[in-house]
Parts: sequence; structure tokens; C-alpha cells
Amino acid sequence: MSILDKFSLTGKVAIVTGSDTGLGQGFSKAFVEAGAKVLGVSNMPSTATQEMLGADKFQFIQADLSTLDPIDTVINTCLEKFGRIDILVNNAGVIKREDTIDFSVASWDLVMNVNCRTLFFLSQAVAKQFMKQEAVEGKSRGKIISVASMLSYQGGIRVPSYTASKSAVKGITMTMANEWAKDGINVNAIAPGYMATNNTKALRADADRSEAILDRIPAGRWGTPDDIMGTAVFLASEASNYVNGFTIAVDGGWLGR
Ligand code: NAD
Repeated sequence: MSILDKFSLTGKVAIVTGSDTGLGQGFSKAFVEAGAKVLGVSNMPSTATQEMLGADKFQFIQADLSTLDPIDTVINTCLEKFGRIDILVNNAGVIKREDTIDFSVASWDLVMNVNCRTLFFLSQAVAKQFMKQEAVEGKSRGKIISVASMLSYQGGIRVPSYTASKSAVKGITMTMANEWAKDGINVNAIAPGYMATNNTKALRADADRSEAILDRIPAGRWGTPDDIMGTAVFLASEASNYVNGFTIAVDGGWLGR
């Protein structure tokens, strides 16, 4: 097998949460272009990603990931539609911006539930499914990729629950990798920098914050969903079988400053 063949996702099946917009669309597009089939999960009834990628390659299920209730349905739907699961991308995420002095319990709980609690228990359920599937000598048994953030490394401003959740993503990525690497499961994360998606709409609309952020990005521009596609395919493929528990920044150089 040549090195480029190791990047192919032909025959693989992925679940991508938060697939209707932004980075989730980027993950879905990357995997379909690399040969995989994708079950998207989103709390919105949007058909945009399916229209972009085609119903033979991309199916979706509407589910609210602020509770653990949909986990079994998501897994069973993927098995019914595509017969197996090889890749999970924990991309769904929410952010709440309020002054930390007045930060509400509701904004704490929602963000922690979607970005951290469901992420962990969905990963646990998918890892159990990976372990049920037949292992092939020398091949990965499954890949879990979570979306972290610059706020896995930094404090941020007015976003305490988001920072807590994304710091937790980096930490539990290592915990899961420590326990499941021996089972042939790779658990890693991607920490996007400042990307032009709904998540950063308010920041980009604030002229002063937007200018301050852009000035600090060595690449001199906001990232786009296309920018995460290469790292996504790498972490989902056999090319990364000895990469465990690491959070890779795709940030235009932000963390180096
Ligand atoms: P986005 O707001 O466009 O996407 C968020 C996605 O999460 C949406 O598809 C939405 O449907 C889904 N989602 C939110 N709440 C949900 C719920 N209760 N149930 C199911 N799905 C839900 O923004 P994005 O930038 O594409 O965000 C994707 C991920 O990237 C998030 O985890 C976000 O925190 C992370 N991230 C974004 C940036 C950035 O600069 N845009 C930087 C670092 C990390």
C-alpha cells in the first residue's frame, strides 16, 4: 500500500455531528471526497449538506445533542443506513458570550452538555461499536476526532463555559486515547483557529475585535471550512494509526504568537 493509498477513506463510514453548517460541512465534504459515506447529525432540519454531497454518500438525522437521549438512535441509524462505523467526528458545538461576572447557569449547562458531556458519551458508545466490529490485522479499528479550540489553550473573554468545555475536550481526548489505543482506536482532536463560520459571526461583526484578531494571525486571514479538510482526512485515515491523544492546531499560526 503506497502512502497516498493510506489517506484514502474508500469503504469507510463516518458520523459527523453538527454537519449542517461551517466546519461540519467541511468534515463531511472532506470525507466524501476521500471516498467515505457520512451520516450527519444536526439539530436543524437543513438539507444543504446533502444537496452539496448527494444522498448516496451523505445521509442525515436530526437530533438535539444537548442531552444524551439521541445517542443510541444516532448509532443505530448509521448502522441501518451504512452497516458499520469507522469514524466519529465530534464537531457539534455551541458558544455563549456573557460577562463572566454575570454568566448564567443556563449558558454554562447548555455549552457543557453539547460540547463536553454528549461528546464524551457519544465517543464512549461509538468506541463500544468499534470494539464489536471485526478487527483487521494492521488496520485501525476506528477513529474519533473531536473539535477543540484555541480556548483549549487560552482563557478567552466572556466565554467561561466554552473555555471549560474546550479545555475538557483536549483533556478527555488524551484520557480516551490512553485507554483505547491498545484496542486499535485512535482518539485525537483538531483545534481550529479563528474560522469564518456562524460561531465567530459576532466577533467578525465587531470591528475592533475583528481587527485585533486578524492582526494576531500570522497567516493574515480568518480560516475557512476548507482549511481543516486535510487534517481531518489525515486523522480519519490509516495514515495516522500511530497518532494518539493529540490535539492538532489548524490556526494560521495563532498559537505560535
Ligand atoms: P457553527 O455554529 O456553524 O456550527 C455548529 C454546529 O453545531 C452546527 O452545525 C449546529 O447544528 C451544531 N449544533 C449546535 N448545537 C447542537 C445541538 N444541541 N444538537 C446538535 N447539533 C448542534 O460553527 P462552526 O464554527 O462550524 O463550529 C463547529 C465546531 O467548531 C464547534 O464545536 C465549535 O466550537 C468549533 N470551533 C469553531 C471555531 C471557529 O472559529 N469557527 C474555532 C474553534 C472551534
